[in-house]
Amino acid sequence: MEKLFDVLIIGGGPIGLACGVEAQKQGLDYLILEKGALTNSIYNYPVNMTFFSTSDRLEMAGIPFMSIGNKPTRTEALEYYRRIYFYFKLKVNLYEAVQTLENKGDFFQVSTSKGIYRSKKIVLATGFYDLPNLMNVPGEELPKVLHYYKEPWPFIAQKVLVVGGANSAVDAALETWRKGAEVSMVLLEDEVDENVKYWVRPDIMNRIKEGSIKAFTRSRVKEIKPNEVTISTPEGDVTIDNDWVLAMTGYKPNFALLNQLGVELSLDEKRQPCYDQANQESNVPGVYLAGVVCGGLNTREFFIENSLVHAESIMKDIANKLKS
Ligand SMILES: Cc1cc2nc3c(=O)[nH]c(=O)nc-3n(C[C@H](O)[C@H](O)[C@H](O)COP(=O)(O)OP(=O)(O)OC[C@H]3O[C@@H](n4cnc5c(N)ncnc54)[C@H](O)[C@@H]3O)c2cc1C
Repeated sequence: MEKLFDVLIIGGGPIGLACGVEAQKQGLDYLILEKGALTNSIYNYPVNMTFFSTSDRLEMAGIPFMSIGNKPTRTEALEYYRRIYFYFKLKVNLYEAVQTLENKGDFFQVSTSKGIYRSKKIVLATGFYDLPNLMNVPGEELPKVLHYYKEPWPFIAQKVLVVGGANSAVDAALETWRKGAEVSMVLLEDEVDENVKYWVRPDIMNRIKEGSIKAFTRSRVKEIKPNEVTISTPEGDVTIDNDWVLAMTGYKPNFALLNQLGVELSLDEKRQPCYDQANQESNVPGVYLAGVVCGGLNTREFFIENSLVHAESIMKDIANKLKS
């Protein structure tokens, strides 16, 4: 018979780690299961990205977050979470993906790529960065279509189409253009999103205005071929030469694990999981939700800053319930 944990935390992102710290504080027997590297989503962010939050607002458990500028870089964040991991000696199994979750009544059974675990409670802190929103157009499966952007070097002297108007799209467009790519953008609206980082927005607006970056506004990609892309614009279809498509169309949570346990999703377009905001417990007793997964398809509702509080409320609730 396998050991029975008090709580298994699925996902070793910032919020999963915060849950681990709080579980430790409450004296709970816990384990974090992470399918990739420590803070795997942040590891996979663009290499040169800068957070929009100042580092003090991302601090957890009273541990100072040092960064050279006000806003930390990806590397500084990776270093911060590495320090948190070693400082608290967190129990994390890395490169172990959770595949199925079963509610066995008295306990939950968790099957991973490496084994089977049993636990009294479950915390889902699985984020949203694993599943890109697809454009669902012919040619999307071509290898030149990328849903994750890392750095500009592969795109020197290449014809790049960036799809989307939010932060990731704008960062990718500006970086690749500055390294000598010929960049076009496809925007659903008249201009890039209003909530693009306030210190970056004027830069992209000016590049578009001066014609350095060509923006197809109120447009969408219609078809992708190996050497060209067809775009539906208000003036009709336009076909342009193209080497790469950077589809920065956002990401969505993987609802499969939630479904396996019977966590309900709202019926509106947000598909927000059902949970009690007082303690983060879902409609399934013993199953808790933490971090950005709580927003469902509204992936901007929760971020690190406003999700860190989930960890404390969850672990206090679990400790109280296991005591009684
Ligand atoms: C480019 C970018 C910039 C951002 N900037 C900021 C910012 O400045 N400030 C801010 O507060 N937020 C920011 N965010 C949002 C922030 O990064 C996320 O809110 C944060 O990563 C959420 O933490 P999380 O722990 O909820 O989810 P994640 O960090 O996504 O962690 C989830 C973890 O779960 C793991 N996982 C998923 N499925 C499984 C499975 N089946 N088995 C095991 N493990 C699994 C994943 O590998 C991942 O490591 C930014 C996001 C992006 C994309």
